[in-house]
Amino acid sequence: MIKEILLCKYGEIVLKGANRKYFEDMLCREMKKRAKAYGKFDIYRAQSTIYIEPLDESADVDGMFYAASKVFGIVAISRAAVCQKSMEDISRVTAEYIPAFLEGKRTFKVEAKRSDKSFALDSMEISREIGGVVLENCHKIKVDVHNPDVVVKVEIREFGAYVSAGQFKGAGGMPIGSNGRAMLLLSGGIDSPVAGYMISKRGVYLDAIHFESFPYTSERAREKVLELAKIVSEYAGDIKVHIVSLTHIQEELVKACDEDYFTLLLRRYMMTIAERVAKQKGCSALVTGESLGQVASQTMQALGVTDSCVSMPVFRPCIGMDKEEIVQISRKIGAFETSIQPYEDCCTVFTPKHPKTKPELEKVKAQEDKLPFEELVEEAIGTLYTVHITPEY
Ligand code: ATP
Ligand code: MG
Repeated sequence: MIKEILLCKYGEIVLKGANRKYFEDMLCREMKKRAKAYGKFDIYRAQSTIYIEPLDESADVDGMFYAASKVFGIVAISRAAVCQKSMEDISRVTAEYIPAFLEGKRTFKVEAKRSDKSFALDSMEISREIGGVVLENCHKIKVDVHNPDVVVKVEIREFGAYVSAGQFKGAGGMPIGSNGRAMLLLSGGIDSPVAGYMISKRGVYLDAIHFESFPYTSERAREKVLELAKIVSEYAGDIKVHIVSLTHIQEELVKACDEDYFTLLLRRYMMTIAERVAKQKGCSALVTGESLGQVASQTMQALGVTDSCVSMPVFRPCIGMDKEEIVQISRKIGAFETSIQPYEDCCTVFTPKHPKTKPELEKVKAQEDKLPFEELVEEAIGTLYTVHITPEY
């Protein structure tokens, strides 16, 4: 009988100094929260590793492995078989557990690590002996110590011995919650869910704000945004999505202002509203999916005009990325197929034919002053309602 365990390594880099325990506790809590959906596990930590140990047959190790791969702060995950701390048992488990992982592979090497120094053999001796066991049980495979297809690992640790073959990349980043809370401006497009993912990867909890313009935007467009929030929440944890209507603002803009300024004016309303709601919800920054030069409202001058109406930091993690790079991340997090569903966004109704690409702030303000800005902002905030998104891990 082989018992599998997950070893999630969080590395030393992000967990420095006095904060270390605080970060480690945070990571363990996050794992425990996610584990609930997959059965009974014991979750504990030692030596920069979180151990996820199934407690009975019904625990879903595959599901838990997938869930753990989305936890920020984890750099690598291995599935390992648990052994007693004796060469006899390690050899027995290796012979039974490892061959399936080496099928179709040409070369391997064994890497042994002995953090329990009371173990009788040293790392070299362990590697040699277990290498022999692998060769006996997998016929076509050869040893290559420089560039092996698979690394078989033997770890002699505090709580037991473990053998594994191959390691998987973790989600990286910093433990969620370790870096405060920010407000994501979430549209139904490709960029903003990616922006949310990237900021939460740095340990930030997210709230999201979505602007709609019913009846110019549809119920289906809103559902799409909530679906995107759900996808991001699988990494970021719970997300409250605050939905605000811009219908009246847009109708007033069309009546009163020069068409070339519509988008810029609308973005200044969005940022102002987002900042106020962010303050109410305890967020310290705004996050958008803008990328330099992607559209008229994302030139340096246009971004300057948009930013000048808020005082909070505005994070734009996609700013220096090409669309292709953004798409790659969107696919990786499983958002792409949802993002490309063709539903309108409030930014795409009433779009100007010749938007200003080098706007001057004074001229924008002159247009803005044609309307009662403050009144319209407060009225829009009055339409806010919140949908609480909880992830399905
Ligand atoms: P995305 O792919 O995220 O929709 P985009 O390239 O289409 O971005 P814009 O439509 O100009 O760009 O929007 C720029 C950013 O403004 C978005 O990334 C998002 O952060 C924010 N934004 C746009 N529309 C909305 C909306 N309806 N609600 C909330 N935020 C929005
Ligand atoms: Mg958009």
